[in-house]
Amino acid sequence: MIPWLPGNFAAMTVGRFVLLARPQPTDGTSTLLAHELVHVEQWGQQGRVRFVVGYVSNFLAEFRRRRRWMDSYRALDAEVEARDRTRDWWNRTDESAISTESAISTESATNTDESATNTDE
Ligand SMILES: [Zn+2]
Repeated sequence: MIPWLPGNFAAMTVGRFVLLARPQPTDGTSTLLAHELVHVEQWGQQGRVRFVVGYVSNFLAEFRRRRRWMDSYRALDAEVEARDRTRDWWNRTDESAISTESAISTESATNTDESATNTDE
């Protein structure tokens, strides 16, 4: 949940619905969508009342201590979990991209060796 002021928000999760300020790619490359989908899951696990009451009371408690909107928001349990899990998800995506890349370079190295052998013959 990214509760910017209305008209200035990036995205917001309401139950199963993710409201986006701008269209996001749906091919699994949007970290914003990944983040919001963690909230959809939290919402589903805790239920509407518990999630909203928990989120708001968590925010008020943090705001009382920090006195800054953005710092309070970032410290929320639901936001910390969403950030951690989005990062894990993103790192997993990066690892598979790297292994595909090294597989390709190994293949082209083999091809170069073969053509070198062919030239010698
Ligand atoms: Zn969020």
